[in-house]
Amino acid sequence: MTRDIVRRRIQWATASRRWRRRHPEQRKAIEQKWQRKHPEKWKKIGLNWRRKNRKHLRCASARWYQGHKRRTRLNNNRWRTKNRKYVRVRERRRYARDRKKILMQCRQMNATLKSIIIAEYGGKCTCPKCPEKNPAFLTVEHVGGRGCKDRKENRSGAISMRLYRRIIALGFPKTFTIFCWNCNAGSYRSGGICPHMRQKKSRR
Ligand SMILES: [Zn+2]
Ligand SMILES: [Zn+2]
Repeated sequence: MTRDIVRRRIQWATASRRWRRRHPEQRKAIEQKWQRKHPEKWKKIGLNWRRKNRKHLRCASARWYQGHKRRTRLNNNRWRTKNRKYVRVRERRRYARDRKKILMQCRQMNATLKSIIIAEYGGKCTCPKCPEKNPAFLTVEHVGGRGCKDRKENRSGAISMRLYRRIIALGFPKTFTIFCWNCNAGSYRSGGICPHMRQKKSRR
């Protein structure tokens, strides 16, 4: 008796599967009807699926991003400005969770941006009398010493990454250059001209 029931159930299941395969449009309509009728349940199913296939989703979205970079960035920015409060909470939580990783990524990003800028401005201290080439000794110089004013105006504060980003976005303007810390501090102390150049003038 029970065996009969089981067999009938299996038969019914295969038949219904066959029907669903043969009538994709009708099946879709039925499913959509159900989804509209039970939005909460449907949402839960989707969430569960996403939780189970997280890896697959990440791969797929990465692939999609490669093909639609500009569009994705635009959409993301729009979403972020719309949900600013939520984003702030989420970022804070993320920072608390993997602070070390984030700080390292920041440092790497900083180094990359700085190396791009250094290469663009000639790869060495641009003071004519200074041979310094080591990137660890090089820094961005505001031509004419308007660094403090510039930082205030553009709210970059002590965050060098913002300054680097801005320089790159502006297309490496002539108002910036690369100096070593020595020439940078020297020119700050003596009113915008590096002491190297002062010495040259006084000797003559
Ligand atoms: Zn120098
Ligand atoms: Zn100098």
